[in-house]
Amino acid sequence: MTNHFDALILGGGAAGLMCAIEAGKRGRRVAVLERADRLGRKILISGGGRCNFTNLHCQPENFLSANPHFAKSALARYTPADFIALVEQHKIPYREKTLGQLFCDGSARDILGMLEAECRAAAVSVFLSTKIQEVARTTEFVVCTANAEFRAPALVVATGGLSIPKIGATSFGYDLARQFGLKIRDPWPGLVPLVLESVDRSHYCDLAGVSTEAVVCCDGQQFHEKMLITHRGLSGPAILQISSYWKKPQPIGIDLAPGSNVTAIFRDPKTLRNLATLRSELRKSLPARFADRWLELHPPASWTNAALADFERQVHAWNITPAATEGYEKAEVTAGGVDTSELSPQTMESRKIPGLFFIGEVVDVTGHLGGFNFQWAWASGAAAGRAL
Ligand SMILES: Cc1cc2nc3c(=O)[nH]c(=O)nc-3n(C[C@H](O)[C@H](O)[C@H](O)COP(=O)(O)OP(=O)(O)OC[C@H]3O[C@@H](n4cnc5c(N)ncnc54)[C@H](O)[C@@H]3O)c2cc1C
Repeated sequence: MTNHFDALILGGGAAGLMCAIEAGKRGRRVAVLERADRLGRKILISGGGRCNFTNLHCQPENFLSANPHFAKSALARYTPADFIALVEQHKIPYREKTLGQLFCDGSARDILGMLEAECRAAAVSVFLSTKIQEVARTTEFVVCTANAEFRAPALVVATGGLSIPKIGATSFGYDLARQFGLKIRDPWPGLVPLVLESVDRSHYCDLAGVSTEAVVCCDGQQFHEKMLITHRGLSGPAILQISSYWKKPQPIGIDLAPGSNVTAIFRDPKTLRNLATLRSELRKSLPARFADRWLELHPPASWTNAALADFERQVHAWNITPAATEGYEKAEVTAGGVDTSELSPQTMESRKIPGLFFIGEVVDVTGHLGGFNFQWAWASGAAAGRAL
């Protein structure tokens, strides 16, 4: 059986669905071929089940890519306000949680339901549980599955990255890019907890669950957010953010008392210079258990001004070299991907292979934590959908 369409979209996640909606609204006959037995599984688990669907403060600086300019055009032509307008049109209740992050009040199912309804309204054909066996290009693109053949002059690859293999992530998009001779920037797990070396684990990981505000930096980037100690290392928003920039064996720098001077009290000559005073000062910046542990492991060498200054410096510059990340099993995104030099920033179409498009996470554009990855999926999907 051969099915003819104007465009075939491989992958029914955030980017693929947005692309299908935009193209369908413009009268294109579009098919979404999805490997799983339902659309948008990642949308359903996103944002702790509430889907952080965009960020009010979305800027090109919130994205990593070998070419930091690539995402600008698509992001400018499909903005957070465009997606919010769609959410409001569907009467989905939402709120800003923190730092411009917008979440559903109800559930991520609302966002997926909205996208599915928009697909129906745009007469998009959806094929679930579709196992693609081969993709070829003759005068048009031919996609073969076990029992059907799909043909179209345009093919959009929206199969996402390698994160969370247990819900079906595969290297399909990268393999297809290579098949057509496109360059890939080696992928790596991003927005992922970090695992500490065994000696550091033995020092800190019994404090699992303790969280503190910190400024974490690496590779010229820094994030001021919460950090969490886990059973194997470090996590929390600040660590997830910096993990996208971290490569072994770089150290990361952590300011455990941002904006505070924990030894300032000792400038007063009447203050007793002893551990009890220092502990109570440190506990103003760190949770008590963490403050106590820090003092045990890094006591001031003496009570001289120089030793206190050294103690202060260490609190603001904890240099720690993680052993690894928790990998794709726990990573929220995959950084790297199809090299942006291969694609048009206006349409996401391959410069070498006319009619072949790559959108969403499979492209070497990765957002910070906070709704930016969905905004890239919507924006790149809309850019391609409007060009089909
Ligand atoms: C736990 C978790 C929470 C997250 N929370 C947020 C959040 O709150 N806010 C945010 O902005 N980002 C969040 N993200 C990131 C965000 O989900 C992704 O960046 C986004 O879904 C990428 O969209 P995409 O369409 O490119 O890929 P995906 O959403 O991964 O969609 C790809 C689709 O392609 C299908 N597919 C794969 N291989 C094939 C194949 N061979 N044939 C056919 N179909 C195939 C997959 O089944 C999937 O449906 C989260 C990620 C995770 C893992």
